[in-house]
Amino acid sequence: MKRVFLIAALFAAVTASAQIKFSADFECGSMEKVELVSQETKNGTETITYNFYSRFDPANPARPTLAPSARWYYFCMEGVKDKEVILNVKNSDARRPFYSYDNKNWIRFSETESPDEKTIIKKYNQDKVYIAYYVPYTYSRLLGKIQEWVKNPWVDLSTVGTSEHGRNMPLLKITNRNGKDGKKVVYIHGRVHTSETPGTWHLERMIDVLASDTPYANALRENVEFYILPFTNPDGVVEGNSRSNSSGVNMEVNWDDPEEVTTKEVKNMRAFLQTLLKEKGVDVFLNMHSQSMHQATYWVHTAETSSDKFYKDIMLLANLTINDNPYFAKGDLCFSKMGSRYCEGWFWNNSGEKTLAVTFETPYTYYSQNKAGEWVSVENLQKFADYNVLALGDYLQEGAPYRIIIGEPANKGGFETMTDHSKFYFGESYLKATGKNAAVKYTFNGKKEGVEIPAGKYEVYKWAVGDNLKKSNEGENEWIKVGEINHKGGKKIKYTHTATQGELVDQILLKKID
Ligand SMILES: [Zn+2]
Repeated sequence: MKRVFLIAALFAAVTASAQIKFSADFECGSMEKVELVSQETKNGTETITYNFYSRFDPANPARPTLAPSARWYYFCMEGVKDKEVILNVKNSDARRPFYSYDNKNWIRFSETESPDEKTIIKKYNQDKVYIAYYVPYTYSRLLGKIQEWVKNPWVDLSTVGTSEHGRNMPLLKITNRNGKDGKKVVYIHGRVHTSETPGTWHLERMIDVLASDTPYANALRENVEFYILPFTNPDGVVEGNSRSNSSGVNMEVNWDDPEEVTTKEVKNMRAFLQTLLKEKGVDVFLNMHSQSMHQATYWVHTAETSSDKFYKDIMLLANLTINDNPYFAKGDLCFSKMGSRYCEGWFWNNSGEKTLAVTFETPYTYYSQNKAGEWVSVENLQKFADYNVLALGDYLQEGAPYRIIIGEPANKGGFETMTDHSKFYFGESYLKATGKNAAVKYTFNGKKEGVEIPAGKYEVYKWAVGDNLKKSNEGENEWIKVGEINHKGGKKIKYTHTATQGELVDQILLKKID
């Protein structure tokens, strides 16, 4: 649908030089209309002010009480060179959005150019400029990246079906073709909410890493199958919607709606996931989003609405992602009730504790509520994604020999085996030292695991089993360095940890020092 706006011509008082042409008739483009407010020339600079209206998604037939969103905007202005343009953003917000002169390289408006949440003010030095709520991530870009990824022999391309408007929903399977049975299974999907482009830049990097020819990615692929559906809502993306699919449905909360208002996209996903659960099971499901709060987060399902073990596992993954991560702090986690309307709820109903199912969110603005810190950019989202991959590998206890995780340690005396849920720990149990100088011996058998352990120095970290708190204490629920090993070569690597009385002991991590 063409959306071209020739506004200035409607106003007799506006001179030809003031005419600015607004358009959004391109992929992901979106705006509703503009109204000319004023036009004046001061000290030789022409200032033109518009009320800018972003476009609401269609009314939601599945949940009529859910107000349609108009967050997303992405449009072009022509005829702006040397003019100061003031946009009063009406239906959405302007929290330092982005502009681009070539529709490729995007720059955040500065604090003075985006001084409050409703105003964009800037004098442009080129005639044509694009403005977007956040750096656009198009369906075309995804299809281009897929062509790159599938060149690798460990990436397979298939589909879960087509959208309501007939667009393909490409599915990637990433794993080494080593014929092993019983690999762990991770399913990740993204872009349910179409304005949430930071989440796609972040997910793209995760796929880049998992599909890359690096020793670590190779080690993960040995024992894990990754199924990734980058766009659950291709129509909404291409058509420039904010949160809904083409027919107005917010698919995030469409998983337990009556059949007649369940979208084709959700039906496709359910059919694929039902088969995957039946044939292999799913160990981890990540639902990738972006949120308006100024922090990244996991939406952790409370233990009351899931189970103690499920909650502990999510909190372990979350704390592993926070570990060492400059963009994610211990206080950033959010908590919600499990609900059948969400995909996580669907997993809970169909797979229970077996699938760790959780939503992860990146912000649009800045991290950990720190406005003076780094603002969210494609570059730091990519760095963030590297931490998500490490956390996933650690949680699954895969990635050897580049990250060797050893546990559950056997209790050979001097310890009590603990299985309570007052702490966060790996797997089924941890140890508590009851005596003095109780020693726990860790052995990683490379031969058994099918892994060559390179000779060299390794740093040793212990998982600091910590209290079950929404915000973990400093020094708890994180990797703490406890020593180094000089591995001279050979099939086994060993480490003995001597615990003080009362010390809690769980998995250890060996990291090779390059
Ligand atoms: Zn979302």
